[in-house]
Amino acid sequence: MKRSLRDSLKLSFEFFPPRTVAAEKKLHGTVERLKLLQPDYFSVTFGAGGSTREKTFETAMAIRDMTGMDAAPHLSCSGSSLAALKEVIQDYKNNGFDHLVALRGDIPSGSVGGGALRYASELVELIRRETGDHFHIEVACYPEFHPQAESAEKDLENFRRKVAAGANSAITQYFYNADAYFRFTESCAAIGIDIPIIPGIMPITNRTQLARFSHACGAEIPRWILQRLYDFGDDMTALRSFGIDVTAKLCERLLEAGAPGLHVYTMNQHAASEAIWAELGLLQ
Ligand code: FAD
Repeated sequence: MKRSLRDSLKLSFEFFPPRTVAAEKKLHGTVERLKLLQPDYFSVTFGAGGSTREKTFETAMAIRDMTGMDAAPHLSCSGSSLAALKEVIQDYKNNGFDHLVALRGDIPSGSVGGGALRYASELVELIRRETGDHFHIEVACYPEFHPQAESAEKDLENFRRKVAAGANSAITQYFYNADAYFRFTESCAAIGIDIPIIPGIMPITNRTQLARFSHACGAEIPRWILQRLYDFGDDMTALRSFGIDVTAKLCERLLEAGAPGLHVYTMNQHAASEAIWAELGLLQ
């Protein structure tokens, strides 16, 4: 890939806060490796797997200190009071962060979530109200539509609301059907959404975990992929090699068609991202 083209892409890696000392050590090793791939930033999830806001904060701080690079903590509003949200926003600002991923957070189906804010658009509004233009705000969006959305059209409208509230760019839920992304970005452009929409990429490395996540978040695994994953049985080497190839080809198609970057859900691993970068010619 030409250097000028590569430089114009927005590339990022997502981690979750480690729960044990051993996992923390491993994450630091992963971060050191992925730093060599020269991403624009690293992001750190909040709430996934029961992690706390403090852990997100600590992990983002550690990554920033270790790498000297931009780290964007995720912040979800579900279940939090207004005072708690205001405090955490100010905390991030006071500690030198200027990049956030603003989310609602997952609410178990059937429950109402609780907390002062109902939607991510309200969180974006709050961040802007409290800190003006200080933060670069990323939001989530869904090429295959959010599983709780009333309709595809309403989901698009709700995405537009987050942009109107002040989001600077968006990261998609992962998907394996490039056409869903193309169609989605076209629909966004048609209703005036003009912020970068970065494809979220989940490297295929593990069948059971992928099936579980996809079921929960509403991402479709095409039958031709799923069937092959089952056929590999316990042959993890063959499964990974197929999975990385499928993921890299997806990224290639997306970038060739003009996607503005890639955001990789790393699951705190480095090997898959490195293999994809190599296959895409993104290594410098
Ligand atoms: P919202 O934008 O609020 O949308 C949620 C639902 O409400 C959608 O169906 C939407 O159509 C609907 N909606 C929105 N506004 C309105 C309205 N005004 N009226 C009616 N309906 C409305 N989860 C975590 O817990 N921690 C993380 O760190 C995390 N990181 C993520 C990172 C990315 C890139 C992505 C794509 C997802 C992430 N998630 C994370 C998951 C996310 O929290 C869930 O997908 C959640 O269910 C929705 O979050 P949201 O910010 O998209 O919500």
